[in-house]
Amino acid sequence: MSAPSFLVRGGLVLDGTGAPARPADVVVSDGLIAAVEDPGTDWQGEVVDADGAVVTPGFVDVHTHSDALAWAPEQADALRLASLRQGVTTEICGNCGSSMFPASAEHADAAAETVRATFDFGDAFADFTAFAAAQSGRYTHLAALVGHGTLRTAVLGFADRKPTAAELERMCALLDECLRQGAAGLSSGLIYPPGCYAGSEELVALAGVVARHGKLYVTHLRDEMSGVEEALEEALDLAEASGVRLQVSHHKTAGRFAWGKTEVTLPRLQKAIDAGMDVACDVYPYDAASTHLHAMLPPWVSDGGIGALLRRISDTATRERIRHDIEAGVPGWENTVGNGGWDRISIATAAGHPDLQGRRVDEIAAERGADPVDVVCDLLIAEQSAVTVISHSMQEDDVRRVLAAPFSMIGSDGVPRDGRPHPRWAGSFTRVLGRYTRDTEVLRLPEAVHKMTGLPAARFGLAGRGVIAAGNHADLVVFDPATVRDGADFDDPLAPPSGIRHVVVAGAVAVRDGNPTGVRAGQVLRL
Ligand SMILES: [Zn+2]
Repeated sequence: MSAPSFLVRGGLVLDGTGAPARPADVVVSDGLIAAVEDPGTDWQGEVVDADGAVVTPGFVDVHTHSDALAWAPEQADALRLASLRQGVTTEICGNCGSSMFPASAEHADAAAETVRATFDFGDAFADFTAFAAAQSGRYTHLAALVGHGTLRTAVLGFADRKPTAAELERMCALLDECLRQGAAGLSSGLIYPPGCYAGSEELVALAGVVARHGKLYVTHLRDEMSGVEEALEEALDLAEASGVRLQVSHHKTAGRFAWGKTEVTLPRLQKAIDAGMDVACDVYPYDAASTHLHAMLPPWVSDGGIGALLRRISDTATRERIRHDIEAGVPGWENTVGNGGWDRISIATAAGHPDLQGRRVDEIAAERGADPVDVVCDLLIAEQSAVTVISHSMQEDDVRRVLAAPFSMIGSDGVPRDGRPHPRWAGSFTRVLGRYTRDTEVLRLPEAVHKMTGLPAARFGLAGRGVIAAGNHADLVVFDPATVRDGADFDDPLAPPSGIRHVVVAGAVAVRDGNPTGVRAGQVLRL
């Protein structure tokens, strides 16, 4: 079946390479860009109007947690459509060490438990092929990384120990298989159990497998707060030792002890690039982060998995030890609350406690006359650990510096869940175009678009995407640079953006005049 032909007429084309805009018409046929013509093309067929607007490649969101969106309830339309409505046509999931594959028979329970707590929906799959085969009805294309935490769970369960030589070999073989099948690379989340239990020997061995495929090692650093410089060195050392291409996820220097440290970390990354290393980073345009509530607790609490965690935190003495560790710190642990305070943490999603969503932990504790650690442990138990938080931990200047770095690209880090998720899932791309490009001029428009299109497509090996050129895939966005802006905020986190006129996915119009058309042309990308 051939997709229809149409002409995107009258726009200014920003081709995604970073080159300046030029007036041109884009001919779309059979899912591909057939030609890019001078304005005034003679055309009798269907026209998609781009008069007064900018035409760009579809945006690539390099960092999402949208792995399980295919299993979200049909009525969760705002959740499902949030990335498409802001112009995203490709998402890269499987980040921060968590993917829905590979799972093994012997640790099936641990895998299922983790998937439930991490993604809300869906199940664990044996490998990339099984995960890919289960995708249907997607609005956007999807590429997937292998999550190191998931991979580790398949072989070791949730154990807080080193793998044996045989276990490490098995992890390498499973990873190799998934990469061969088309997974985009390997991700790690070194603040999260069980990923945080890994030492450098394990990570270097796995990164070596990724290097042989020429794919990316994408890492949520072991510390993005007071220990961020050491954590960055660990990642650079690993890249040097294994020869892997390195992507630092959602780069930030958060917490009062690390504010301003991007003045050190960004030049460090540039120095590595100048020395010939293949390194880059991504960033989302907000000064607040979001993660799991259980990540506020020291890592020993999670040894053995979620069941063990829930049993442990019902004990009073354990809670006392948690309080002590948050105050005194634990070597090698990021300790978000110790770097900030419970007044900077608010509950994002807790399905059984809608009244707590959007509220600060210190306020809930004060209202109940309780200690914040008790409030947190009680909530984790009641929700079977499936609680996410917003952490107001960054400074605006740091966010701007990372956005402006020539080697940064845009990744929402979006977590599509019910409740009050971080607005970055529905707002990141239009916020960069509005607030950080038009309104405050941190970026110029061709550069901002490049960070959303040509740059990430080249980095992740998305062949035929990210640049408007004849023969490439017809993933396109038409937007109005004067009015484009994010609508989502912390009170209304899924509110749609303004200024996005049309979005084309695989040669089909999926958003027309700002409204989704119902077209679901998204495909799984095998890389
Ligand atoms: Zn992360």
